[in-house]
Amino acid sequence: MGSGNLDNFEKNLALIEKRGLELISHAEDLQHLETLRVELFGKKGELTSLMKQLGQMSHEERPVAGQKANAIREALTKSYDARAVRLKQASITKQLETERVDVSLPAREVPQSFEHPVFRAQAEIISILRACGFVVEMGPEIESEWNNFDSLNFPPNHPSRTMQDTFYVSREEKLVLRTHTSPVQIRSMLRSKPPVRMICPGRVYRADYDHTHSPMFHQVEGLLVDEDVHMGDLKGILQYLVSEFFGSELKVRLRPSFFPFTEPSAEVDMQCCFCKGAGCRVCKSTGWIEIGGCGMVDPEVFKSVNYDIDKIRGFAFGMGIERMAMLKYSIEDLRSFYESDYRYFLQFPRWLV
Ligand SMILES: [Zn+2]
Repeated sequence: MGSGNLDNFEKNLALIEKRGLELISHAEDLQHLETLRVELFGKKGELTSLMKQLGQMSHEERPVAGQKANAIREALTKSYDARAVRLKQASITKQLETERVDVSLPAREVPQSFEHPVFRAQAEIISILRACGFVVEMGPEIESEWNNFDSLNFPPNHPSRTMQDTFYVSREEKLVLRTHTSPVQIRSMLRSKPPVRMICPGRVYRADYDHTHSPMFHQVEGLLVDEDVHMGDLKGILQYLVSEFFGSELKVRLRPSFFPFTEPSAEVDMQCCFCKGAGCRVCKSTGWIEIGGCGMVDPEVFKSVNYDIDKIRGFAFGMGIERMAMLKYSIEDLRSFYESDYRYFLQFPRWLV
């Protein structure tokens, strides 16, 4: 091969460079620029094809030609980069101009969210009991059987332990979805010495579903442990809670009952908030409505948390928050709380919307 080869190669290189630089400097947009890059110096581009001729050159010519080709590739790349920067900038400027927001346009109306009646009721109960010195405590919804049943004096064969009543997360690991918020009381007592004055609001789970029962509902429980505590204190707190929550002087009465974790135990009734005790459809003409359970903490429970049963006494109470909300806002079917139909909640008083 003679030097004509090199001359020819250089001529072609110069052509590619001239044409390339010209085209690149006039590329209209990034897509066009990319097409040019592929055509001119991509893997199958003009420059690469030309460089295949290097193989036919002599040992002297080859490095000279290679160097020149690389210089051209560099020049094209540089020009490509510079053009790309300008085109990107132009595209951003164009976007800013065309997508400008007119802040003077009237806003689109978005329906406003509001507090769910259950959370509204829960917040009110918490605020009333906090004012009495109770501290809010929280606990996990997946609990050990020990925290949920054993420590609370449920005998091993108690019916509420069955799978018909309780959702088991794992039989082997003895884990359940808590059936009440009482395990939080156990956790609090294990963590701290008396006096204890706490409430635990939260979700609980039971295998039950009809117009007054849901498999998931909310409960709030209270616990007070100290040296001189009696049922009079308990009744006083419940009386205060009911009057504050319903905004009127409704009487509270305690009816003897049984729970594994309290002794004595009682059902909590309040005077019907609809007829003020005169008798109506809701209270089935009795004038009273059941709202929860309560009692003096059973010494067996104190033993589980290593409290000195000769020195201390305590009371506990619990109620369903849905039930309190249903009574306060006259809601008949508990299931409507969970249907999440925005329109349903629009019927409630002004504070909700
Ligand atoms: Zn009534």
